[in-house]
Order: sequence, then structure tokens, then C-alpha cells
Amino acid sequence: MNKLATLSAITALSFSSLMADNHEQSMKFSAQEVSPGIHMLMGVGGFTGGNVGVLVGSDGVIMIDDAMPSSLEILQQAIVSVTDRPIDYLINTHVHGDHTGNNVTFKQQGAAIVAHENLRQHLLNKGIPKGKEMVQAPKDMLPVITFASSMTFHLNGQDAALVHLPHAHTDGDAIIHFSPANVIHTGDIFFNGMFPFIDVNSGGSAQGYLAAQKAILERSDAKTQIIPGHGPLAKKADLAAAVSMLEDSIEIVERLIAAGKTEDEVVKLNPLSKYHDKWNWGFITTERMTRQLYKSLSHNNQHAHNDTPHHH
Ligand SMILES: [Zn+2]
Ligand SMILES: [Zn+2]
Repeated sequence: MNKLATLSAITALSFSSLMADNHEQSMKFSAQEVSPGIHMLMGVGGFTGGNVGVLVGSDGVIMIDDAMPSSLEILQQAIVSVTDRPIDYLINTHVHGDHTGNNVTFKQQGAAIVAHENLRQHLLNKGIPKGKEMVQAPKDMLPVITFASSMTFHLNGQDAALVHLPHAHTDGDAIIHFSPANVIHTGDIFFNGMFPFIDVNSGGSAQGYLAAQKAILERSDAKTQIIPGHGPLAKKADLAAAVSMLEDSIEIVERLIAAGKTEDEVVKLNPLSKYHDKWNWGFITTERMTRQLYKSLSHNNQHAHNDTPHHH
């Protein structure tokens, strides 16, 4: 994986600088049918964006997330390999550019974009990153159908439930649960085998992320196929491992915060060193994991102390 591309892509500061990298010929999406009619499209050979899900059948086609703008061509090639029909519904699991990067194209080809209402608000109020600036999101990028807590699609013999899990990776996350097929697309509430990115600046939180992962565990059994936002197709045991790592890491950092340590002091102690070898990766290093937990957890404490009724 191109570490530099990964870093820039997820922070979404600059897509244009990635174009050169993403034109490497070796990059493509590999398509895997995880259950009849449900495909996982995963980028290989470089960073293409988040994992894409596609439900195909005679009633219509649902796509979950649409990768980076620079991945459009290889994404379209992968889609054609699983269906000759256009996309009817495009679900965005959350606002990040590696999951919403081709909204405009698919919308203009006839897809109705569906997402949590906070994602639409985020695009309208904050816009999208262009270089280091935020610019207005194009109208065709915006969801035309939004939901607050949950909604369900009924197509191709599947019940596809979109469920909002609050303040997890962002404040506008949705997971998609195909219950008859026992398949769950988690969006970025799960990075399989990697420290997670918790986007505190977009309304995510460490405790919310942990609660959201536990909610997905509750929906899973040993046979559930879990499509993570990033990383390979997973089983319940993989998610359970991520949950215990995060739960323990939160406790460790919370204890240090309670002991009065500053963020830099905590980083210096390297309290998550036991998780380094297994979970550290280019974008969320062990240091960044420590810092994001500190920021989120100390922020929570501050709120607990300062909360007054007129804030609500
Ligand atoms: Zn992502
Ligand atoms: Zn994300």
C-alpha cells in the first residue's frame, strides 16, 4: 500500500496530489461474491478508497460507497464485472472522500444517493476539501434521500437495513445489514486488522466508536460476513479482536488522563506499545492512535464537568 497516498486520502486534504499515484496500472478492484448477489469490491495494488459493496439482482442495484475520484475507471470496470445494470441507489456510509469520491458521476448516471442526514448537513455546511481549503460541495454530490435512525431497502429478496450508529467514526455513520444474507457492511466503523481512525473533528468519538462496534457484534454470529471500511473481508472474531483492543486501549488512556498526564506525556509513555506490531499502520500509527484517544476521551471529561442545561 502506498503510505503517502493512504495518508492524504483519508485526511482528504488533497485528492489532486494523488492522481499520479493512482494511475499506476497495477491498481484495480478485486470482486468477491460474499453471498449470492452481494459483492465486495476491494482495491488492490494501491489505495483506491474504502471497500465497496454491491447488491445486484432483477429488482435493481444498490452500491455502498464509491471510492476515490481517481479510482473511478477501475471501479466502473469492477462494477461491469458483476452487473450490466446501472446503479439505482448509492449509499454513502459516511462523508469522507474515499467513500463519496464519485457521487457526482453515479448521480449523473441516474443513481439516487442515500445517506444519514448529518452527512448531507456536513456537505452543505462544511463543504468538501480541495487542497487545503474547504469548497462548496457540488449539488450532484448531495444525498437526495436521508434518514435519521434507520431505513430499510427491500430488493432482490434482501432486507437491507441502514442503521445509524451515533458519534462513532463521524457523526453521520451508517452500517448496512443484509439480514437474510447475514452480511454487514460497516463503513469505517471497522478497519480490519488496523488501528481505527476516529474522526473527532467530524463528530466521531472513541466511546461512540466502541459502542458502535459492539452494536455490530450483537448483529453478528459465527457465519456473518463483515465487509469492513478498510482491510479484507472479516468474520465476527476479527471484529471481536478489534473491540477488545479498543476497549483496553480506551481504559489505558483514560487511566492516564485521570492521573493528570498531558497528551505528550501519555505519548512518551507509549502505553499502547503491546498493540503496535499487530495494529500499527501508515495512517494510524501507534502514536496517532494514542493521540486520537487522548483527544476524544479528555474532550468527554471536559464535557462531563462543564455541561450545563443551557448547552442543550
Ligand atoms: Zn475510509
Ligand atoms: Zn472514513
